[in-house]
Amino acid sequence: MNKMADTKPISGRHMFDALRDKDCIIMAANTRYIPGVAKGILRAAKDSDSPIIIEIARSECDLAGGYTGYTPKDFAERIIAAAQKAGCTKWVLHADHISVKAGDDETIQGTKELVEAQIDAGFTSFAIDASHIFNFEGKDEKEELEGNLKATIEIGSMITERMNEKGIDSYGLEVEVGEVGRKDSDGFMLTTAKQAATFIEELNKADIHPQLLAIANGSTHGNIYDENGVKIEQVSIDIPQTKEIAQALRELELNVRIAQHGITGTPLNLIATQFPKGDVLKGNVGTFWQNVVWDVLKVYEIELYEKIRKWVLETYAGKGKSEDEIFGKNSKYAFKQFFDEMHNIDEKTVAAMEAQAYASALMFFKAFNSLGKNKQIRE
Ligand SMILES: [Zn+2]
Repeated sequence: MNKMADTKPISGRHMFDALRDKDCIIMAANTRYIPGVAKGILRAAKDSDSPIIIEIARSECDLAGGYTGYTPKDFAERIIAAAQKAGCTKWVLHADHISVKAGDDETIQGTKELVEAQIDAGFTSFAIDASHIFNFEGKDEKEELEGNLKATIEIGSMITERMNEKGIDSYGLEVEVGEVGRKDSDGFMLTTAKQAATFIEELNKADIHPQLLAIANGSTHGNIYDENGVKIEQVSIDIPQTKEIAQALRELELNVRIAQHGITGTPLNLIATQFPKGDVLKGNVGTFWQNVVWDVLKVYEIELYEKIRKWVLETYAGKGKSEDEIFGKNSKYAFKQFFDEMHNIDEKTVAAMEAQAYASALMFFKAFNSLGKNKQIRE
């Protein structure tokens, strides 16, 4: 039996189609730091027969290494090796936030180069995020979204073309209609059902058929803090609005469900009891895994942890109202800065990270109701 082949990532579309309206959320984990963490998550997925997506965003991982220090090729190779060690067979390798911040030729060209590298590295799912391009003066939804649509269609068509050239006809596609966490003077700017529906309908007309839609529904990326710089839980996700959007998509018979971004900090009990599984099909958990890394490091590798903390507090001084906030919001930049040291830590430390990641992944799978759901993919 060829074990290598069995543990390669599967098509995102295959997983998303199989689990649509199956009362579960698929966890997508951004593993900014791979040793221990990725294998712990993948092993938990295998042991509990839960679907899992490993993802990484453009800001985290690009051709220059992003803030993790991993290029798409490095990242894919390391994750594929971790999946093989874990014996995980039902997983997707997803390019999170392929951010297109403007529609100019240079930005589009740079984005295409990144996507090209992700395809060559073996990613099986892609999230095009041009949500920053939004016309606040637009007189209707179509006008508001015109720039986002144009960029999404251009990158989406390019992915189709390249995947076809490689003979791959099935892969995952996520698109983004509202910028996650964007606020104005009245608070969070939430996506409307009309914007969501218009966006998907226009994409479908252009022969772009995503399975997932990211919306702005009151979540924020990363750790969150109050006005005094004290870390707080996230309880701001607007569940009725999320349900309304999913319902609007369903009524139009669009095979698209919600991708919930920015879950870190949301109480698991709230997810378990109140999140609309099925309406939300994919749940992104990123910063949480970074917090696991620091929590283990501060006990197992005290010297290295203190060195990293000092560097973050000095380099990002003023970028937060307390030392904890400065560290919590900016320590992501330490992964590249301390790449070599972080990738040469004691194996006991790696084992502790793996155990923590394993246990936490099981908690997320239960809260997301995804335990045992790989059965649906096999059928
Ligand atoms: Zn996100």
